[in-house]
Amino acid sequence: VFIAFEGGEGAGKSTQVQRLHGWLTEQGIAARTTREPGATGIGGTLRSIVLDPANTQLSPRTEALLYAADRAQHVHEVLSPALAAGEVVVTDRYVDSSLAYQGAGRTLEPAEVRSISRWATEGLTPDLTVLLDLPPETGLARARGRAAADRLEGESVGFHQRVRATFLQLAGAEPARYLVLDATGSPDDLADAVRVRVAELLAG
Ligand code: C5P
Repeated sequence: VFIAFEGGEGAGKSTQVQRLHGWLTEQGIAARTTREPGATGIGGTLRSIVLDPANTQLSPRTEALLYAADRAQHVHEVLSPALAAGEVVVTDRYVDSSLAYQGAGRTLEPAEVRSISRWATEGLTPDLTVLLDLPPETGLARARGRAAADRLEGESVGFHQRVRATFLQLAGAEPARYLVLDATGSPDDLADAVRVRVAELLAG
């Protein structure tokens, strides 16, 4: 079973990924967490390129290809083997992040970004995507409070609004495969809502 968490800056994805993993493990279910970009050795190198604020010359297409390369390696080295071994795999970001950030954010053609991702992943799609939705102003304020600057720090609120709108559109197009949560809620309430949905999914 493959579960992805998506959302903008400061949405609390990493907290919820850890909470879900903790609960799955308590239930005796073999589970692992992973993330994009940078879950593999090669991915770590790619992450340092795409997130380095000094790389101002990076073109949008180059950026999209580097994220796709990170994802291809992620599928090959981590996701496919773990799923084949029967684990529940919980990833912090996946294809939707590319559609939102490289597609809508960098204004590349979303259909093209999707086809690159589909090729990179051989079509591997999450069984469930949890979207932690919140206004960009709220998320950016949270993120700035804690993290070192990365390349997105300088992007406009408009960029982050396009990112948010794209995540919501993707969820709206496939409601059965998404759980959309208001990420301004408390971490406990969010974790409860995720658990209810994942329990349903596992009950099959
Ligand atoms: O999720 P995390 O905060 O580790 O992501 C690192 C950065 O990479 C974030 O600023 C995120 O918005 C950006 N990112 C991106 N395109 C992706 C995935 C992540 O711009 N496909």
